[in-house]
Amino acid sequence: MPRLLTGPIVIATHNPGKLREMHELLAPYGIDAQSAGELGLPEPEESGTTFAANARIKAEAAAKATGKVAFADDSGLVVEALGGEPGIHSARWAGPDKDFRGAMNHIQTLLIERGARTPEQRRAHFIAALCLAWPDGHIEAFEGRVDGVAVWPPRGFLGFGYDPLFQPDGFDRTFGEMTAEEKHGLPPQGQGLSHRARAFIKLAAACLRKP
Ligand code: IMP
Repeated sequence: MPRLLTGPIVIATHNPGKLREMHELLAPYGIDAQSAGELGLPEPEESGTTFAANARIKAEAAAKATGKVAFADDSGLVVEALGGEPGIHSARWAGPDKDFRGAMNHIQTLLIERGARTPEQRRAHFIAALCLAWPDGHIEAFEGRVDGVAVWPPRGFLGFGYDPLFQPDGFDRTFGEMTAEEKHGLPPQGQGLSHRARAFIKLAAACLRKP
């Protein structure tokens, strides 16, 4: 039986773009949430080899440190022609300065080296693994994915990270050109568009009371 989530919780991320989206997704449910940054928690080492493992590491560390239920996201951009990179290393590719323009340039350089010019050769997807960890060790985990194309040049200044590089299937705009509402694509207007929103819809169905 999935466990029901009631507040207050800690959002186990130091990434401001993700934090904003996680707050937006939780907002209709009225759950009181503080972030790991606000609480001064350290960032644990993401030593897992999968998105799910790293989400669990972050959630468990925050639950242990605070005694509260912790909500973590591990996510990234998987470029098929690059053997799945940057994948779980998506944050690392931007370096300590969080230079996502540089990371997108790097992806483009590698794609051109591999002769990947057509949309079919430039297939990519985002994955989000969400994890809820309770202080007593209980875990709930969910995953979401959105498929699309790595465009060039990057377009748009909305969102964060690799959003300007990624155009989801069925759309002629990148995530960087979409408002937060469009990127989430939540019901009743949509079925969930972003990887994070798709994972969150599963989480909400299992662990949250309808708003
Ligand atoms: P981590 O999950 O903290 O290891 O970092 C994931 C990285 O993947 C982020 O820093 C972003 O660069 C990228 N990423 C994850 N989700 C998104 C998204 O929704 N849009 C753009 N970039 C994302």
